[in-house]
Amino acid sequence: MKKTAVAIVIIIAAALVAFLAYDGTVNKEITSDFFSMNTYSTVKLKGAESDEAAEEIRSLTEKLDTEILSRTSSKSVVSVLNKNGGGNAEKISDYLNVLFDVCKKSGGAFDFTLGAVSDLWSFSSNPVLPDETAIKDALSHSGYDKMKFDGKEIDYSDKAAVIDFGGAGKGIALDEIKTVLENKKIREAVVSIGGSVLLMGDKKFTVGIRNPEGNSGSYIAKLHIPEGCVSTSGSYEQQFEFGGRKYHHILDPETGYPVDNGLLSVTIVSDSGILTDALSTACFVLGYEKGKELAENYGCGVVFVTEEKKVYAENGAENYIEITDNAYTLVMQ
Ligand code: ADP
Ligand code: MG
Repeated sequence: MKKTAVAIVIIIAAALVAFLAYDGTVNKEITSDFFSMNTYSTVKLKGAESDEAAEEIRSLTEKLDTEILSRTSSKSVVSVLNKNGGGNAEKISDYLNVLFDVCKKSGGAFDFTLGAVSDLWSFSSNPVLPDETAIKDALSHSGYDKMKFDGKEIDYSDKAAVIDFGGAGKGIALDEIKTVLENKKIREAVVSIGGSVLLMGDKKFTVGIRNPEGNSGSYIAKLHIPEGCVSTSGSYEQQFEFGGRKYHHILDPETGYPVDNGLLSVTIVSDSGILTDALSTACFVLGYEKGKELAENYGCGVVFVTEEKKVYAENGAENYIEITDNAYTLVMQ
């Protein structure tokens, strides 16, 4: 190339860099909060199309809930299937394939057909303890192994069974949000829906593990991780006290009662939102030993926090966890 041509290229490149530096929209940073899927969500975006992307995320999450996943919104795909005891499930077949796999590999500790039982547990401002016989009856109408799914149609052999995506819905939303963000001019994103977080961008992120006994802004540890998904299931999330006992929303599919195994929370790290969410619930039910095996089986990092204030970080998580509250001890195996 001649010297003049080189000079022209350099001038154009410099002008472009200067333009990008001046054009604040390229790095536009926004934070937006909204309430959806029965929980608070926060979207933090950096990039030229942050405003549009935030709006798209908000409407996508709302639609995914009311039109597809919710079991209380009467027209959703899940509600219609629950009403009819099965039918065409093509719109949720990708999710079902993953969730049936987690049900099987967790030996039924994760079971998204427990809806009849979860319906009995109300975590409203006026909670009541469900009747024991009602729980037994609802349990008899649960069990993923009673459902037949051929990839398109699902058939509830027990028509009183109820599908409940509560244990994986937020993770599903994160996977759908990821697709939206990949098609937008966004350089960095942190999206949290309840206890599930999506991280996108070419950097190391820091994600806090909540203090199970503190308020929502207090943390016991930090995870220093690249982009991906993180999900925490905790017994502090939805709970009530009755007769001096605490009851929370993660249920043991064998008893129909809240899991009581000494764990306070389980955090999973992986690339897939649906997996991190389902596995955090599954590992909470399974407890430390079996939960660790399940997370290993899926190649996911996992952190268990116990009532004794011990923290077990496994399957790689030991390399990126930092305990920040000295009341908690990291147990090295
Ligand atoms: P959160 O909704 O707080 O993020 P989880 O992801 O752990 O917490 O999901 C808990 C929800 O999952 C419950 O509210 C209920 O709807 C459903 N659920 C409870 N127990 C189970 C279970 N053993 N398997 C699958 N889903 C469950
Ligand atoms: Mg979950």
